[in-house]
Amino acid sequence: MEQTATETPQNTFSCQLCGLSTSYTYYGQKPPNTRAIVLLEECFVTKDPFSPDKEKFLVLGSACSLCNMCVCVGPDCSLFYTKRFCMQCVNKHLDQFPHQIRAELAKKKQSSKSGVS
Ligand SMILES: [Zn+2]
Ligand SMILES: [Zn+2]
Repeated sequence: MEQTATETPQNTFSCQLCGLSTSYTYYGQKPPNTRAIVLLEECFVTKDPFSPDKEKFLVLGSACSLCNMCVCVGPDCSLFYTKRFCMQCVNKHLDQFPHQIRAELAKKKQSSKSGVS
């Protein structure tokens, strides 16, 4: 990871697996201006640009609990099972996940081949 000294005017979240890059408005577990929402994990959130409702927000992604890599919430990039795991760690530690999770991942792999967008 390289960091340049130049300051970015906006906070940018970028997924280190798929390269998705977008600005975020908040990082943490409790987005501001939301009523009593506490997220299950610290994550990058942004206001929903398509919603006039100020309380609507989108979860962009968060850091993998094992390797700390920033990954988006896309099913190809990360998995949430009590904590956030990037797909690299999931694959590395697949045998430590319960059978149910492994079965779900296998299903996902099959369905992604048929090009679901
Ligand atoms: Zn991603
Ligand atoms: Zn990881």
